[in-house]
Amino acid sequence: MALSGLDIYKQLPKTNCKKCGFPTCLAFAMALAGKKTSLDKCPDVTAAAKQLLESASLPPMATITIGAGEKKAEVGGETVLFRHEKTFYHPTAIAVSISDNEQNLSVKIERIKKLNFERVGIMVGINLIAIKNDSNDLLKFSAVAKEVSQKLQLPLILISENPQAIEEVLKNISQLKPLIYCATEKNAEQMFGITKKYNVPLCVYGKNIEETASLSQKAISSGIKDIVLDCGSRDVAKCIRDFTQIRRLALKKNFRPFGFPMIAFADNIADASTYITKYANILVVRMDSVEEILPLITLRLNIYTDPQKPIMMEPKLYEIGKPDAQSPLLVTTNFSLTYFTVAPEIENSKISSWLLVCEAEGMSVLTAWAADKFNAEIIDVWMKKTDVAGKVSHKKIIIPGYVSVLSGKLEDTTGWQVLVGPKEASGIPKYLKAVWK
Ligand code: SF4
Repeated sequence: MALSGLDIYKQLPKTNCKKCGFPTCLAFAMALAGKKTSLDKCPDVTAAAKQLLESASLPPMATITIGAGEKKAEVGGETVLFRHEKTFYHPTAIAVSISDNEQNLSVKIERIKKLNFERVGIMVGINLIAIKNDSNDLLKFSAVAKEVSQKLQLPLILISENPQAIEEVLKNISQLKPLIYCATEKNAEQMFGITKKYNVPLCVYGKNIEETASLSQKAISSGIKDIVLDCGSRDVAKCIRDFTQIRRLALKKNFRPFGFPMIAFADNIADASTYITKYANILVVRMDSVEEILPLITLRLNIYTDPQKPIMMEPKLYEIGKPDAQSPLLVTTNFSLTYFTVAPEIENSKISSWLLVCEAEGMSVLTAWAADKFNAEIIDVWMKKTDVAGKVSHKKIIIPGYVSVLSGKLEDTTGWQVLVGPKEASGIPKYLKAVWK
């Protein structure tokens, strides 16, 4: 919970010495509450007040980065319980687990490589690999982690309660900044030491929500900043209750031990879906088939796509098939779903075409027209920007049937002949075959 100016004022020296550049301590407190200055401008603030004010200015849930360079995943950083309150920032990171006892590691790795998909122009897929030390063999664990890190372009979670096993792996790949899973009541001191030595994120595991809070607080007190929480329950209903309580305490009460992302484990799609819905920031699954992972990724897209930010295509002239100077030219807006409805129907027509996608703030055709974002002037601008006149030898442009009203103005503005296409994309193949001989 953010502190008010008066809350901050109570912690200041109240000497009005002006060293901070403000005429009074109260003015400084108000500026600090409005994030217009920083606490270090007051040289006389006590250490205790500084700690309190600094912790109050932290975000309610930390953003944790797992991995490094190209291979990294960001989790957490959420500020609301529900998407409609503002937005969600980081979709649940899905991790596929690999046992270090895996009989055929190469086959498993090849299966995992297939878990990437293109959906409405966006590449989506799994985000992490969780390597489990089932063998209890330190060298084997280390060898599997090394091989997986070399063959898969994904950040890692190292799963073992044995600090020696974790350190054996970190000796080779600590620069990849894997997430360490996990510190427990038994091994906490050793795990804290390793985490700090190699500067990697750490997951704390409590048998219940209270123990998780206690371990998290110990990790914070020992100087660890990148923490992930496992609340201990493997029963879905109990886990969801714990997750909800943890997130509420973090966001509404600013309870620092819970101000971190949470991890969940699922063995089947039903459980995994529930965790994606509420409130797993990291989800470790054993499933590795396309049939199981794709629905999870689709659900994740549904939950985490912000409806206030339409998914957009780059506005430009797209080639559908192998168009030439005689090919038809169609025009539409840069709403992704519109593009991915129109483009396949042009392909279905078997007539290679040019598709001019105009900037319309990601709105569909009718919405953009109603908002005056898809009009004759805008189409004319994009025709010129993309040099359509240099690409086709005719001067005909096909507009969507829903905006037939644009045809007269567009002809006047561009000097091109405007053909009114079908209202629905499904009518494009029949239309092109009939019109474009
Ligand atoms: Fe008050 Fe500190 Fe500013 Fe002095 S420097 S006026 S004590 S806030």
